[in-house]
Amino acid sequence: MSQKALLIVDPQIDFIEGTLPVPGAVDAMNDLAKYVNEHGHEYPLIIVTADHHPLHHCSFNTQGGPWAEHCIRNSVGAAFWPPLFQALHDYRGYVHTLYKGQSVHRDEYSVFKNPSVSVEIRAYIREMNISKIDICGIAGDFCVSDTLLDAIRYFSPDMFNLLRRFTPSFDGGHHLDGVVSRYNISVTD
Ligand SMILES: [Zn+2]
Repeated sequence: MSQKALLIVDPQIDFIEGTLPVPGAVDAMNDLAKYVNEHGHEYPLIIVTADHHPLHHCSFNTQGGPWAEHCIRNSVGAAFWPPLFQALHDYRGYVHTLYKGQSVHRDEYSVFKNPSVSVEIRAYIREMNISKIDICGIAGDFCVSDTLLDAIRYFSPDMFNLLRRFTPSFDGGHHLDGVVSRYNISVTD
């Protein structure tokens, strides 16, 4: 039987109300927590990705990178948004967390950029016979767009559906809308 998975990109405190907040992320992630409470049973698998940076990661502006320091592993800012964490705790299916950005010298917007994790996520999707993936998370114009672009190199674009309501962007959604229209990816508002 074919099954549906939910892929949540980087629902971490720093991107919501920490050092690198995305406009609208508080409401989007609170709404996503409610969605998981109400619709979690439709998904046998929920995959959550997380930025998991070392202290002096190359993406930080203190190291010459483009971003404020964020999601340093084991920091409060790297933790999952508490209401969503609670919803995942209460969910009865399988939650699989995947980490990225662990190497000091390389950034990984998409979890597929991490070679070993990419193999792992693809194996899960195939073993669990997942044929549809609803994707959402933060930020739409960076890590979600990049995850989607990598994912459709391995899987058919019609396997994916963007949950736009739970995907806030720095740019208001402009870049992500371009990606979904270019590749004909379905969208749920
Ligand atoms: Zn990062």
